[in-house]
Amino acid sequence: MILDGKCPTGPIQQTWDKHRFDLKLVNPANKRKYNIIVVGTGLAGGAAAASLGELGYNVQAFCYQDSARRAHSIAAQGGINAAKNYPNDGDSIYRLFYDTIKGGDFRAREADVWRLAQVSNNIIDQCVAQGVPFARDYAGYLDNRSFGGAQVSRTFYARGQTGQQLLLGAYSALSRQIKAGTVKMYDRREMLDLVVVDGVARGITVRNLVTGQIESYAADAVCLATGGYVNVFYLSTNAMGCSVTANWKAHKKGAYFANPCYTQIHPTCIPQAGDYQSKLTLMSESLRNDGRCWVPKNKADLGKHPNEIPEEARDYYLERKYPSFGNLAPRDIASRAAKEQCDDGRGVGPGGRGVYLDFSTSIKRVGADTIKERYGNLFEMYEKITDEDAYKRPMRMYPAPHYSMGGLWVDYNLMSNIPGLFVLGEANFSVHGANRLGASALMQGLADGYFVIPYTIGGYLATVKPGQVNTDHAEFKKCEEDVNKSTEKFLSINGKRTVSDFMRELGGLMWENCGMARSKESLETNLKKIPALREEFWKNVKVSGSGAELNQQLENAGRTADFLEFAELMCRDAHHRNESCGGHFRVEYQDEGEAQRDDANYCYVGAWEFKGVDKEPELHKEPLKFDNVHLAVRSYK
Ligand SMILES: Cc1cc2nc3c(=O)[nH]c(=O)nc-3n(C[C@H](O)[C@H](O)[C@H](O)COP(=O)(O)OP(=O)(O)OC[C@H]3O[C@@H](n4cnc5c(N)ncnc54)[C@H](O)[C@@H]3O)c2cc1C
Repeated sequence: MILDGKCPTGPIQQTWDKHRFDLKLVNPANKRKYNIIVVGTGLAGGAAAASLGELGYNVQAFCYQDSARRAHSIAAQGGINAAKNYPNDGDSIYRLFYDTIKGGDFRAREADVWRLAQVSNNIIDQCVAQGVPFARDYAGYLDNRSFGGAQVSRTFYARGQTGQQLLLGAYSALSRQIKAGTVKMYDRREMLDLVVVDGVARGITVRNLVTGQIESYAADAVCLATGGYVNVFYLSTNAMGCSVTANWKAHKKGAYFANPCYTQIHPTCIPQAGDYQSKLTLMSESLRNDGRCWVPKNKADLGKHPNEIPEEARDYYLERKYPSFGNLAPRDIASRAAKEQCDDGRGVGPGGRGVYLDFSTSIKRVGADTIKERYGNLFEMYEKITDEDAYKRPMRMYPAPHYSMGGLWVDYNLMSNIPGLFVLGEANFSVHGANRLGASALMQGLADGYFVIPYTIGGYLATVKPGQVNTDHAEFKKCEEDVNKSTEKFLSINGKRTVSDFMRELGGLMWENCGMARSKESLETNLKKIPALREEFWKNVKVSGSGAELNQQLENAGRTADFLEFAELMCRDAHHRNESCGGHFRVEYQDEGEAQRDDANYCYVGAWEFKGVDKEPELHKEPLKFDNVHLAVRSYK
């Protein structure tokens, strides 16, 4: 099937304004008659729930943490982009649009990206009004720094804690609505099914993580803002609770999964220290503003203290390979370049899986105090983890799984192919193509939540009667039964391997065969091994405790079971896409180490329809058209 993204036509500069005007409105007095479920209270979901509450809808918001403000967005470090052009260095909506399309290796929809660039400026105003303490320069104006894939400084930041400050802003707005009674907050609830009645999304089934109770909630529309899925690699920069579960349950109920193979491996993370590590730590891309990546030119220097290796014996490989972008080359390119150095035997640190990120030049230029002001908390974090002082010696870095560009397919209104199901933030596939630029995820989450969904959901609700289905409907009962049955199954297997043992093995397969580099053979290996691992999981997993209590083994078992199904789809998607683009690097398709796209055959969004576990999913395509940028080979040289 050819999918229609329902993008408005006409001059791109006017599409969003015209579309907003064309959307039907819900009369203010009628809004309170509609119930909306928002799953997820990170930046996307928190902003959406607060905005929809402010508009007067009845909102039920859900998260699995013990507080809305513990969503994973809180971990975001480096900043948020906007096209304000405060530094007067040539930025514009068009440039942010262009950089994002190019950064995504021409695999995103033009209309969605334009809208993102357009509303980016509103986001900064909104957050400043909320009191988000963005960094300011000496004169008191908002400060900007640079991020990868751009030659202008457009990133607004709050030291290395931008996500936390933005989330506190969204959380304040959400709390106001909770107090006003427009939003009812349900924390410690994990969505375990989407309820679809006659092809329309009507509610969700959740497990109360404290009591184990299975609960149903009905609404006129459901928004998923449940974050990304890179924990499929087991080790990643994401919080350990991040999962594909909500998306996967919706997928199994008919929502198409778009571009699952587009995952981002971030170039600057603290290298893994041991086999039993369960989490990797990001060092923000903002550090590449002042840090320079290098490895020794000569293998003979590998054992030396980095400060003893003279300037002329260092290979500043990003500056050498990409002179115009240098250390601010986009993430996919910087990650591959780091791997290339390590594969060449010039990697530093234990196991040779590391490159240096060196601040000595910047410290000489601006002084250690300025560097501390910019990134002090990141340097502290690095020292706590490695016991090394990065003011005195270079940091050691290695790429790690970080972000998922793929997600549930949505149209221009952020509605999936299931009417009434909307998907926001990292959970959808919409704007980043095959590679996300730094500081663009926060921008997208807040754009979706504050400035897109409040309009587009109204356009949908204006066409439906409120309250048509409630939780007495047989479909709600069936979903509850299904969830109860799978809980019983997990607890009854009583096998010999722990849940995390399975997840670690799956993650290893994904990293090895579907990670930074993939090949036809490696993917075919996974397409055999993953179903076998899944089969073993259902025979040999051990989950202790009961379903009627707080049981983290049970929670993880559910998430792992979903990853074991999803991972196969991811490999299938990577296998079918016989090209390299952005973060999807198929070793067969490269030109001197650079990704080689095949626009003639693969310039589309690949959206998969679930046909059953162990059955082949069906691929639907949404062709991508480029009318406002020239479809070209990406170059950062
Ligand atoms: C270490 C780190 C640093 C980063 N730094 C930056 C940065 O500087 N700039 C930038 O632009 N981006 C950054 N990113 C990316 C960015 O933080 C995320 O992409 C973004 O915050 C995701 O927001 P979200 O609202 O979509 O999802 P999340 O913040 O992940 O929120 C997901 C929400 O969904 C809920 N949820 C999930 N599943 C379920 C379920 N089954 N049932 C109930 N609730 C559920 C969770 O409880 C949570 O409330 C960073 C990411 C990491 C990991």
